[in-house]
Amino acid sequence: RLYNEVIELKGNIRVFCRCRPLNQDEIANGYSSIVDFDSSQENELQITCSDSSKKQFKFDHVFRPENNQEAVFVQTSPIVTSVLDGYNVCIFAYGQTGTGKTFTMEGTHENRGVNYRTLEELFRISNERSSVMRYELFVSMLEVYNEKIRDLLIENSNQPAKKLEIKQGAEGTQEVPGLVEARVYGTNEVWELLKSGSRARAVGSTNANELSSRSHCLLRVTVKGESLINGQRTRSHLWLVDLAGSERVGRIEVEGERLKESQFINKSLSALGDVIAALASKTAHVPYRNSKLTHMLQSSLGGDCKTLMVVQISPNTTDLGETLCSLNFASRVR
Ligand code: ADP
Ligand code: MG
Repeated sequence: RLYNEVIELKGNIRVFCRCRPLNQDEIANGYSSIVDFDSSQENELQITCSDSSKKQFKFDHVFRPENNQEAVFVQTSPIVTSVLDGYNVCIFAYGQTGTGKTFTMEGTHENRGVNYRTLEELFRISNERSSVMRYELFVSMLEVYNEKIRDLLIENSNQPAKKLEIKQGAEGTQEVPGLVEARVYGTNEVWELLKSGSRARAVGSTNANELSSRSHCLLRVTVKGESLINGQRTRSHLWLVDLAGSERVGRIEVEGERLKESQFINKSLSALGDVIAALASKTAHVPYRNSKLTHMLQSSLGGDCKTLMVVQISPNTTDLGETLCSLNFASRVR
């Protein structure tokens, strides 16, 4: 049966799904994939459940294990580049730890992700438009961990961590006073800047991967535009968000600090789901204030802002439960 009828292109909200390949360990251990793709449909996938029943899911686009970073960027590029036309944009990578959220957004040196490719494209287009528009680009990076906001671009890590708060700006926008905004002039410096931000994400933790899976990492690109024809100015934000792992942690396994963390993660991910679901169904009340994440992104979610959720999944049999949870989350925000 058709599990979720259609995740349609509803206004400005889009949902993509990306399935990572089985990794070496999984193949060596003889695991197989539970995800099938229709050869003729680029937006469908089918999950084989443990009782052999099939569940079908539709998205605005589905990326298969063999699709590379370029293929993902081709679909993402029209959304991210609309920031140059004055739109606010948010892109989220959602999913269980180990499904490729960081791979999609950050990528590796050889396989650069959406973040770097986006900045490259923004520079390319702004050069192309240089006879009619003047653009200035600024980059900020921050982390939300246990509902606390931390700047990831403060160069000197010996510096005591500044406590960042969300404040209402003059035009009713949400601002984070004191957050570093690094002016960027070209692609050369950008990769290193993004790397330094993601290194800072790991500071203070004994296991970098572990902590990064429990915090949300946000890259904000601020675009200031000025028309050389009529002098009109725009200021818009593009947020590229690598969310904390969506996996449920067993109640018995965790206590103390770890339990608190998982409660904060659950709270903020469900707050995000609630906000996007409210926007998609055009509900009058949108509950932005239920988490730091949604509150901070308030002026970039809703209205004529553009939102893209990339739901990352694993093809592995043992991840079936989490995969279904992630696909169901995606159905909620349709
Ligand atoms: P997450 O951030 O969701 O925890 P990662 O991005 O760290 O997951 O991915 C886990 C591992 O899988 C990494 O080694 C990553 O390079 C690899 N990986 C994820 N997605 C892909 C993909 N589409 N193709 C190749 N390798 C991938
Ligand atoms: Mg990650």
